[in-house]
Amino acid sequence: MSRSTPSSPPVAARSLLTARSPATVVWPVAVWLATAGNLPLWQRVLDVGSAAAAATLVVPVLGVLAALLSLLAWPRLLRPLCSLLVVVAAFNSHFMWQYGAVIDPTMMANVLHTDVREVRDLMSWSLPLSVLLVAGPPLWWIWRRPVSWRRPLGQTGRNLAGAGIGLALALAVALPGYSHLASLARNHKPVRYMINPLNTVYASARLVADQVPQQVRPLIPVGENAVLVRPAAAASPPPLLVLVVGETARAANWGLNGYARPTTPTMARWAAERGLVNFPDATSCGTNTQVSVPCMFSPLSREQGGDQPARHQNLLDVLQRAGLAVMWIDNQSGCKGVCARVPSARPAPDPALCEGDECLDEALVRSLDQQLATLDEQRRSRGTVLVLHMMGSHGPAYFKRAPADRKPFQPECTTITLGDCPIDALRNSYDNSIVYTDHVLGLTLDWLDAKARSGTAAPGLIYMSDHGESLGEGQVYLHGLPYAFAPVEQKRVPLVTWLSPALQTLSGVGTGCLRQRAASPVSHDHLFHSVLGLMGVQTQARDEALNLFRPCGA
Ligand SMILES: [Zn+2]
Repeated sequence: MSRSTPSSPPVAARSLLTARSPATVVWPVAVWLATAGNLPLWQRVLDVGSAAAAATLVVPVLGVLAALLSLLAWPRLLRPLCSLLVVVAAFNSHFMWQYGAVIDPTMMANVLHTDVREVRDLMSWSLPLSVLLVAGPPLWWIWRRPVSWRRPLGQTGRNLAGAGIGLALALAVALPGYSHLASLARNHKPVRYMINPLNTVYASARLVADQVPQQVRPLIPVGENAVLVRPAAAASPPPLLVLVVGETARAANWGLNGYARPTTPTMARWAAERGLVNFPDATSCGTNTQVSVPCMFSPLSREQGGDQPARHQNLLDVLQRAGLAVMWIDNQSGCKGVCARVPSARPAPDPALCEGDECLDEALVRSLDQQLATLDEQRRSRGTVLVLHMMGSHGPAYFKRAPADRKPFQPECTTITLGDCPIDALRNSYDNSIVYTDHVLGLTLDWLDAKARSGTAAPGLIYMSDHGESLGEGQVYLHGLPYAFAPVEQKRVPLVTWLSPALQTLSGVGTGCLRQRAASPVSHDHLFHSVLGLMGVQTQARDEALNLFRPCGA
């Protein structure tokens, strides 16, 4: 705690007896983190069949951690920092065990942008228990006795020596064992994001480095020359497009895609009788909401950087600039910056559908007329785009996504520790959320159809999910694995479109033609350009190669 001086009072002298050097905090904590703090990592490394790789990796992890902690061994910093790291490692371990999650920069961004409801959904009794088991012993050790510090110069020397020993140890084992580590890194990339708590340190640093310049730079304008182009003779009512951003719906469980269970009965009816078109081969831009939602509205394709933090304005800015009425209605954790410059709202609280601040998705539809009426009349006379951001199949509490009378598949998994549920029950609760999404889309189509019948609008609907979901395939649950090695379940999403006869006439897009082309691969890259095409917005930002309506006339 303090250095000894001849005039130290007896109390300080007594604590001096029990005080210990910073290295007695640094090294035990590093050893604990490298072993007990990384059980999911070691489990995974052993699972993929390499005890040699595990033995080779554990020492470098220890060495790097010890080096890092040694450099940060300063009074009032070391012990709080060590405490934070063991707690972080404990939380990470829990979510890795439970859901097969890994911690990379996008997962970290997701965590930082999540809201109370999402966090609440992830809380279970096993969480405090795992945190206590993993973080409890080192916390006790860290705070048990005071630390004695040297003068700044002496401490600097000690810290550098500690860091040198840690790095030397890491290199001494990593270099001869390079072949094991290289093949592990090459063949099992997620492993690198499982190293606690270095994964979190790395992800946080990346996030800060990415976001700091973003916030000071204004967004690059897009489609500054955007204008509405309509056929001169069009005596049609104005277009009204509802763009539904789905949540966590995966293509594999979408009835219209050939899933063994009838999870989309309403969509199937609209497809058979009313010209709804299903796109069975649709791919998401990201594996989590934080990446996918901005990317869906970005003028950039995924390849061009649409999956990176937005530097450009988006689809809604261009639609609004062209003179259309635009609104974002959110039943989830916000629009991730997409709706920053257009009107936005949450569904009106409805006691039948909402509990606290959480509403079933039907609430989105009930308030449509009310929300529409708040938009500028002149803009509406040119056309309207309403974005509905669903709660969809947001996990792990799938069982909360549908009301009791709309759950055909029983019994459900009613816990959030998904690994504890029989796989059939898990599938039941997930499928019920898809059935409810199908129901809500049906209500939206009914609402739009009424507008078509009354001749007040030329309506249409596009529904596309933001990303998919893992339901225990390969012991992986939820979503958010790094895109490059995320399983296909997290990347394939449902996409449907419906154009009323009036909108088909107005846009020139024939549903029959669209259906013939629907089997071709499409992705989030297409959304920006296709909506502009459908709404008749002409701008240089529109890339016809990515307009999925183009071959059919828009
Ligand atoms: Zn999402």
